[in-house]
Amino acid sequence: MANVGFIGLGNMGGPMAANLVKGGHKVQVFDLSDAALSAAKEAGCSIVNSATEAATQVDFIVTMLPADKHVKSVYLADDGLISVLSKDTLAIDCSTISAETARFVGAALKEKGIDFIDAPVSGGVGGAKAGTLTFICGGEAGAVARARDVLQAMGKNIFHAGEMGAGQVAKICNNMLLSVLMVGTSEALQLGIAHGLDPKVLSQIMAASSGSNWTLDVYNPCPGVMDNVPSSNGYQGGFLVDLMSKDLGLAQQAALASGAATPMGALTHNLYRSWSQLGHGREDFSSIFNYVKPISK
Ligand code: NAD
Repeated sequence: MANVGFIGLGNMGGPMAANLVKGGHKVQVFDLSDAALSAAKEAGCSIVNSATEAATQVDFIVTMLPADKHVKSVYLADDGLISVLSKDTLAIDCSTISAETARFVGAALKEKGIDFIDAPVSGGVGGAKAGTLTFICGGEAGAVARARDVLQAMGKNIFHAGEMGAGQVAKICNNMLLSVLMVGTSEALQLGIAHGLDPKVLSQIMAASSGSNWTLDVYNPCPGVMDNVPSSNGYQGGFLVDLMSKDLGLAQQAALASGAATPMGALTHNLYRSWSQLGHGREDFSSIFNYVKPISK
């Protein structure tokens, strides 16, 4: 079993660190939030006082941070992880960030002889809690193989998408598709409700038909259709609108850079941005259901 440092104990990182402990690993953690640290302590992690302390004397350092700027500064600031990481430690960044930043951070670490992989995840908070996440890795095959035991304590599928940054590219492709499915599912449910259908019954019908998809079957956006999903909990505790908006921005940047045509992705990016500007940024992304409510006639 390994010594693991973990930085970023939010909606995803908290339960991921707890699963590492359950998997028998020794886990030392850091976050800026005292509440997140207390929860991690309850789960059996040791609390340390800084990110650099979390990265000291460990076989692996795992980071699960909001966005590019946090990852860049945690790793590369003058007092960042780069100043303390040993060549024997493998750095695994599970945040969803741009492929460019992943490559930039990875290259800076490589110059110092430290291995790095990007390993963004899919599966949401439910997957993080259940230890069933999908990890989408980019980096050298040997480094990905080395990470496997640790990732397996937190997930059930581990893919090697390609070279450094490839995990991030695959991840934003997935999230762009997810956003399109979420908006489409929300529209279909609202249309049925507007015509007097019971959303539970409509969901069962579409789940058994060709409209079946993850946002309908597992993460239904209509309150009361499913237990234990954010829509039945005031849209709290899932994947923030602001984070989805960030990922869709990354997808649009990648589309512009490559010339790929992503009209649906551009539309959902705008929808999520304006939903955030209307004050819903801290809600789960399934709250877009309320943005496509019928207009009263
Ligand atoms: P979150 O906002 O709940 O958690 C982020 C945590 O990082 C917070 O606890 C915050 O205090 C901590 N943090 C920020 N800066 C820090 C620093 N400098 N040092 C230490 N801790 C710091 O976010 P989340 O939902 O856990 O998502 C994390 C990443 O995972 C994001 O990149 C997101 O896009 C991705 N993701 C989220 C989901 C989801 O369903 N929530 C699913 C897949 C991927």
